[in-house]
Order: sequence, then structure tokens, then C-alpha cells
Amino acid sequence: MPKIADNLEAVYQRIGKACEKAGRQRDEVQLLAVSKTRSASEVLEAYDYGCRDFGENYLQDALEKITEIKPTDIHWHFIGHLQSNKTRQVAEHFQWMHTVDRLKIAQRLNDQRPAQLPPLNICLQVNISGEDSKAGIDATELLPLAAKIESLEQLQLRGLMVIPAASQEVEQQRRAFAESRQLFSTLQAQHPQVDTLSMGMSGDLDSAILEGSTMVRIGTDIFGARAQR
Ligand SMILES: *Cc1c(COP(=O)(O)O)cnc(C)c1O
Repeated sequence: MPKIADNLEAVYQRIGKACEKAGRQRDEVQLLAVSKTRSASEVLEAYDYGCRDFGENYLQDALEKITEIKPTDIHWHFIGHLQSNKTRQVAEHFQWMHTVDRLKIAQRLNDQRPAQLPPLNICLQVNISGEDSKAGIDATELLPLAAKIESLEQLQLRGLMVIPAASQEVEQQRRAFAESRQLFSTLQAQHPQVDTLSMGMSGDLDSAILEGSTMVRIGTDIFGARAQR
């Protein structure tokens, strides 16, 4: 079997096992294949093995792939840092944006989303471990920002995205994810349509699923280690 298909099979198994352990249905957790720095042909290999959702961090790199890749049933997710002068390309070419952390970005995405497209799906990024180096809002800013975004017609608020401080310790991983889940419940209480808790990467997807993740973002374990960038 080709390598990416092999890796994907292992990832699907891992997700299945974690769901079982958590007492959750397998279809409660979606796989987002993180294809940043990967070629169009690698994306297509994953596509042939069932992936329909792909995450990208670098806009230029992503736009080239989106243009080159033919199947139209792919959902592209922007998961990187976005400068406000680059919002138009995301509004025009992506279906999801996971890293909204200020109103200005949301407003621009809303204004630039083409009218003939469905609303852009939005996750708010929360800096759950409070690291200075990480993007994302404080937990206290979540509800006020969500309320403002709710009124933007061309955006659909879908949930939360977090990247906790990296840790090898399962207990520590789970603590940060459990906090994220609580915050997610608070958001859902105000916005019942919210259904997405985007958390978990190659190193901590099992912990994330145990704590309620609905979308894991996996790069390395599907495509192999990335070159430094
Ligand atoms: C790169 C990246 C991932 C994937 O990380 P892996 O450790 O390669 O699985 C997930 N989320 C975000 C935001 C990323 O930038």
C-alpha cells in the first residue's frame, strides 16, 4: 500500500480506538488532514483514501494547490495566522477559517465573502494555555466576540479552535483539552448551533478525543515529518 494510505489507515484506527475508549460514536470526530507544505499529488493521494477536508497555513502555497486540484468536493480549512490584508483570498477560496481572534478579521472576511457562496465557517481561536507566543483570544473575550460575529451574515459561527502548550504528559494534555471543552459548552449555551471543537494534533489526538474534540487536525502522522520552514 502507498505510504500515505498506510498512514491514514493507522490514523483512522487511532481515532476509532480513542472514540471507543471515550464511549463516543466514531462519526462524532472528523479528520482534518493538515497538508501545509505538501504537494498537490500528496493531497490527492489522501483524497483517494477518503480525506475531503484539508488544512492549510500558508496562503500562497495553499492557493496554488487549490487552483491545481480538480475535485470540487474538497473543503479547504485555513488554520494559520492571517494578516488582515490577506483576508480576501481566504474569503474567496476557503470553506472554513479556524483562527479568527479579532473582530477586524471577521468583519473583513464577512465583507469579502462572495455573495454566491455559502457563509464561511468560523472557529474562534482561544489561547487556552495563555502562552505569550501563541495567537488567540483570552477565554474571557470569547462570548463578546462570538456575539458580534453572530450578526455577520456571510459568516457562520461553528465553534472553537485551540492549540494548547505542547506536552508529552497525557494528564497535562487532557487538562488543557478539558478546559477547552468547558469553554465550548459555555459557547454552545449561548449559540446552540455551534458544533465544532477543533483540537488535537498528531502528538495528542487521543487525549483530545477523550476530552470531546469533534475535529482533529493531523499533519505529520498522515504525510510524514515536515521540513523546517
Ligand atoms: C501544523 C498544524 C497541525 C498539524 O500538526 P501535526 O503535529 O503535524 O499533526 C495542526 N494544527 C495547526 C494549527 C497546525 O499549524
